[in-house]
Amino acid sequence: LKAAFFVGKERIEIRDVPLPELEPDKVLVKIMASGICGSDKGLWMNEGEKPGIHGHEACGVVEAVGEGVTQWKKGDRVVVFAVVGCGRCSYCTAGQFTYCSQRRGTEGGYAEYLTTFARNLLPLPDEIPFERGCLLLDALGTPAKAARRVGVQAEEWVLVMGSGPIGANAIQVCKAYGAWVIVADPEGYRLKHAERLGADVTLDPTSSDFLKTVRDITRGGAHKAMDCSGNSAAEKLAIAATRVAGRVIFVGENRSLEISPSEDLIRRDITLMGSWYLHRSDYFENLDLMRRTGLDPFQTVTHLVPLDDLARGFEVFCGHKEECLKVVVQVG
Ligand SMILES: [Zn+2]
Ligand SMILES: [Zn+2]
Repeated sequence: LKAAFFVGKERIEIRDVPLPELEPDKVLVKIMASGICGSDKGLWMNEGEKPGIHGHEACGVVEAVGEGVTQWKKGDRVVVFAVVGCGRCSYCTAGQFTYCSQRRGTEGGYAEYLTTFARNLLPLPDEIPFERGCLLLDALGTPAKAARRVGVQAEEWVLVMGSGPIGANAIQVCKAYGAWVIVADPEGYRLKHAERLGADVTLDPTSSDFLKTVRDITRGGAHKAMDCSGNSAAEKLAIAATRVAGRVIFVGENRSLEISPSEDLIRRDITLMGSWYLHRSDYFENLDLMRRTGLDPFQTVTHLVPLDDLARGFEVFCGHKEECLKVVVQVG
């Protein structure tokens, strides 16, 4: 099978590798499409990331099932849940694999086939094309779960920091829930995408009057803020731009941030939260939200590339070239 190997800084090689062995309780999936995720940037820049086959936003068709698998059969359309749990604890039983103490990531979406546990597959409805299907987990699922967790609701102001792929889908989700959305990103072309996706207000967070503008528009600050940037300065602004008793949720990964509990949180009754990936139940809730509101994560896709051109996809995505927002790799 054909697979894209990350071999070093800005170097990907397409290689032929043997089909993985199909173990009991596992399923062989023929990959049709895979998204390039912002968290994959390190692989391309090779900032300490492991060489090998990657890709964790995959969907495709069941090719074969291992011993003991009864819930899937050849030909089923599926999306691949990227976090694997032990399968036995109370969290795994509830489909909350990210809470499992033995959780680990599963990759392999940048290849023609992958194997994963049967419990890590979710059904992809027939009417959803694969290029859209691969966006239903991380790309849409992560911001949608975060929006629900932070309590986004109609006729409240939400400040979205960062208008990359996750922020762009956060905008659509917040609009689907009826909120008013302010989007902040220093890059003009990303703000253009944000406007196209329904943002009510777009702002450059590096401008000196950013906080005053947000407070004026919202009459005192956003009710909720979602940081989708992982940038310390943006996170600080998100906290500062949130009104008293508001909530801030961190979605973008960041290793450290200096805050003043007294000034930033206590004196203003601010709730600070985090959210990672999604649970199985979120997937079905998001499908329902799409059906009800017309929300479409494919609206964020600016580039489609074949697996052979994965390197070009990364170059455009990581280099912010050609007004790139989201890249989907057409594998099958
Ligand atoms: Zn991801
Ligand atoms: Zn578990």
